[in-house]
Amino acid sequence: MTTVYLTHPRHVAHDMPDHPEHAGRLIQIEAALAEAGLHDRLYCQLPLPASEEDLLRVHTSEYLALLSDVAHRGRHVLFGADTYVTPESYHVARLAAGAAIQAAEAVAAGKADNGLVAVRPPGHHALPGKAMGFCLLANVALAARHLQEKQQVQRLLIVDYDVHHGNGTQDIFYDDPGVLFISTHQSPLYPGTGRLEEIGLGLGEGTTLNVPLRPGYGDAAYARVFDEIVWPAARRFRPEMILVSAGFDAHWDDPLASMTLTLTGFDHLTRALIGMAEELCGGRIVFLLEGGYSLNVAGPAVCNVAHALLGEVTVHDPLALPDRVPEMLARLPDIGPLIHQIRALHGLDA
Ligand SMILES: [Zn+2]
Repeated sequence: MTTVYLTHPRHVAHDMPDHPEHAGRLIQIEAALAEAGLHDRLYCQLPLPASEEDLLRVHTSEYLALLSDVAHRGRHVLFGADTYVTPESYHVARLAAGAAIQAAEAVAAGKADNGLVAVRPPGHHALPGKAMGFCLLANVALAARHLQEKQQVQRLLIVDYDVHHGNGTQDIFYDDPGVLFISTHQSPLYPGTGRLEEIGLGLGEGTTLNVPLRPGYGDAAYARVFDEIVWPAARRFRPEMILVSAGFDAHWDDPLASMTLTLTGFDHLTRALIGMAEELCGGRIVFLLEGGYSLNVAGPAVCNVAHALLGEVTVHDPLALPDRVPEMLARLPDIGPLIHQIRALHGLDA
């Protein structure tokens, strides 16, 4: 199995002390991959920055000019309350987007069987004309638009298991029938979108599928959502390729959210998605890093994805489950009625 892997060491120039989305996240991931000897088995490539032509498939020229202008001011600038830009951030973000595009291209063109992209800043909250939620450029959407235009991919599945709703990705493909966007996310939580009634618009009606989960759900509920919603929706859509917005902030140790997935639970979801790709589209799948703010989780989580993509059975889950997790799970209602409601809304019972 050839798994293309892209990251870029220059990400350290996009950093802000005490911010949850800091360079230490990816430094830890790279160290964990090295310690597991995974770099030797991955097909490692360095990305080129996304070109202006690439970026304009999603973003407005005004927004790109603003990012470039901010980058030249020589100091940190905040976009809104939560998203920072350093003098090198625009370049780093273009490398991240370029990595996503390059990995998707390699897999679509048959140069690799599947792919893994570990980059920052993340992308799934970025809008065509606006940075938000720690995201500057819409990495996964840029890769998707590239596949549509350069590889003539007609049917693309994007699954977003980051704990936050991928509002940017949803917005970009809301009226596009060629992209099925499925998001599982905690609700209520930032950014506040992703209600189950948001199902797409116009020709894209039905190709946005939101699974808003109340705080606390963990491995068993997510596994049921994948078995009873994601699998049948993917089979009906018959994608030619799958992109995954892989954020690990639905883990119980994450400081920004309240779900209770374990590393083993994440691995189950990862392997389900790889299984979907094998059944439906010749194994063509690329995982792209989004959020995940526990430094205990980021390294083993990405290593587990790498093992799974390489076809290895290895799973690492070194973190002992705290007592509060089973206590929280015992208080939650059965996930069944929500699953039933979503299946009915999307015609998955037919
Ligand atoms: Zn997130």
